[in-house]
Amino acid sequence: MIGLMKIFDAHCDVLSKLLENPELDFVHGSGLDVTLERMLASGIAVQNFAVYLPERYSGDFRYVLESIDLFHERILREPQMRFIRTKTDLRLSSAENRIGALLSLEGVDSLHGSLALLRILHRLGLTSVGITWNRANWAADGVLEPRKGGFTAAGLELIRECNRLGLIMDVSHLAEKGFWELIEASRKPVIASHSNASAISPRMRNLTDAQIRALIASDGVIGITFVPPFVSEEEPVAMDKILLHIEHICALGGKRHIGFGSDFDGIRQWLVGLEHAGKYDRLVNLLLSHYREEDVKSFVFGNWHRFYMEHLPDEIPATVQDAEDGITLGS
Ligand SMILES: [Zn+2]
Repeated sequence: MIGLMKIFDAHCDVLSKLLENPELDFVHGSGLDVTLERMLASGIAVQNFAVYLPERYSGDFRYVLESIDLFHERILREPQMRFIRTKTDLRLSSAENRIGALLSLEGVDSLHGSLALLRILHRLGLTSVGITWNRANWAADGVLEPRKGGFTAAGLELIRECNRLGLIMDVSHLAEKGFWELIEASRKPVIASHSNASAISPRMRNLTDAQIRALIASDGVIGITFVPPFVSEEEPVAMDKILLHIEHICALGGKRHIGFGSDFDGIRQWLVGLEHAGKYDRLVNLLLSHYREEDVKSFVFGNWHRFYMEHLPDEIPATVQDAEDGITLGS
């Protein structure tokens, strides 16, 4: 990876594609935007893998566990990858020159209000939780729910439990009312793993200036996403339109709060010039032609890295650790 700038990407849907089609080849296959080969080629150093269940799986927790199994069997089994559950894991992924893999949940539908299931996922190494996808669930309303509601009583308990466990909460897809309730209720910073500025492209899933300011004030990070309609209303959308979102968020005081969350493998249209994870280094070059190297480093890696170094747990929950010790002794 010599010569490449390190990249930290906060959202992709590889696991969802693998769940639908286990035949896909994560190492160098077609049919995936994010493959091991492409990540190595473009300098991706940390990638967050979301567990997202397509709607026809109707929030069945079995498929959340099967997605986590795919994460282990198909992604973490590659020796170039390292599972990141703690600050130490993140530090070691860099030191060992391996690609760090974070695990997140996109939408809590499958937990059906059970904080026990949340804790089980936490023990399995989950580090962040997207409250909703576009629809409503038991915790809160997503952006496409017509009533545009906020959190339920059970959803407020979810916030408290996430805070207690140190699970990072993610507002991408959450309806605006819930956004403000979360900002109010959470004792910890919140993130938007894959959302843009609505002042630049006024799509419902993008963030208003007030929301961006609130995320900055909470010391969270906003992952600028590559979903073309969220980048620009024109068609097709060139990669350089991303610069408008960066400029805008910087103008709101967010220079230290900008990251990227591609949404690769969750999209069916791509930015021209940024069609898959192997082209991420082209975005780096584009940024380098507009910003100082130091700023580019923080946009593509440093801001997310700083956030996670601060908010990842120091240790993994005891039950998981004990199990791992057993594996170490036995092997
Ligand atoms: Zn999403």
